[in-house]
Amino acid sequence: MLDAEGPLTPMAGCTDLYVALNFGTLRETNFLNLWPLDELRRITVRSGVLSIGALATYTDIIHSRVLSTRLPMLVAAAREIGGPQIQNRGTIGGNIANASPAGDTLPALAASDAVVLVRSVRGERRVPFSEFYIGYRRTVLEPDELITAVEIPPIKGRQWFRKVGTRAAQAISKIVMAGVAGQRGQPPRIAVGSVAPTVVRLPSTEAALASGASLAEAQRILQDEIAPIDDVRSTADYRRRVAANLLASFWNERGRR
Ligand SMILES: Cc1cc2nc3c(=O)[nH]c(=O)nc-3n(C[C@H](O)[C@H](O)[C@H](O)COP(=O)(O)OP(=O)(O)OC[C@H]3O[C@@H](n4cnc5c(N)ncnc54)[C@H](O)[C@@H]3O)c2cc1C
Repeated sequence: MLDAEGPLTPMAGCTDLYVALNFGTLRETNFLNLWPLDELRRITVRSGVLSIGALATYTDIIHSRVLSTRLPMLVAAAREIGGPQIQNRGTIGGNIANASPAGDTLPALAASDAVVLVRSVRGERRVPFSEFYIGYRRTVLEPDELITAVEIPPIKGRQWFRKVGTRAAQAISKIVMAGVAGQRGQPPRIAVGSVAPTVVRLPSTEAALASGASLAEAQRILQDEIAPIDDVRSTADYRRRVAANLLASFWNERGRR
């Protein structure tokens, strides 16, 4: 239908689309309802690779036993998204496609080296998460393509997630960070949201920590890898300071169970 009857805008849980509709900023008028496609809701592990269907809701993620052991940082993110109503309707595919730099699942997916599975009548593409966003709210998705799933290779090392917002529920992140502590000589993996036009990994900070740099030095390097702005939710200065504090929490807590 996307190919033959397009352009059509995919609708999943509609928790972002309805906000745009209510604000009068939704330009699109033709939609494709994905919600009944149960095939896209599955959370599975095949040959060691975790696959989360694009229509998996936050409630599905919170209740998934496989995710609680394989990807606890994503479960932690899902628990802090919206409230129960949003968790029942909002989907991971919608969070990815909506491409907000404040999307709470995105740092967890960036830190886990996820791969986005994208499908159209032309076939399937596997897009590394690090290549999915090409600018502020811009992705590599073509108009006839759907996100069908996200795949996550096995992760070794303790996972960590922290969101800082105005309050615990129904608040968009002022800053959000996810990390994986490196094991046996592997560097840590750290990603941050709400500090740049897209969610960002911190390769220089990761390399510094891996090579034994002090936390203070890593915090200095971090400042060059982010580009926060002042906006309605926060100031650039606050975001810089909290990013450094979150890095310290991640690093200091990495050995704890
Ligand atoms: C009150 C409230 C609180 C919220 N709190 C949070 C929060 O704490 N953290 C957070 O990150 N977000 C939050 N959100 C935003 C929203 O809930 C999430 O981004 C959610 O994951 C969107 O998923 P959805 O299925 O509802 O997407 P939709 O609204 O259905 O779609 C969003 C966009 O993605 C596209 N799309 C959806 N699915 C696909 C697909 N499979 N393939 C291609 N394109 C697709 C749609 O065309 C649309 O452009 C909140 C929203 C509200 C209204």
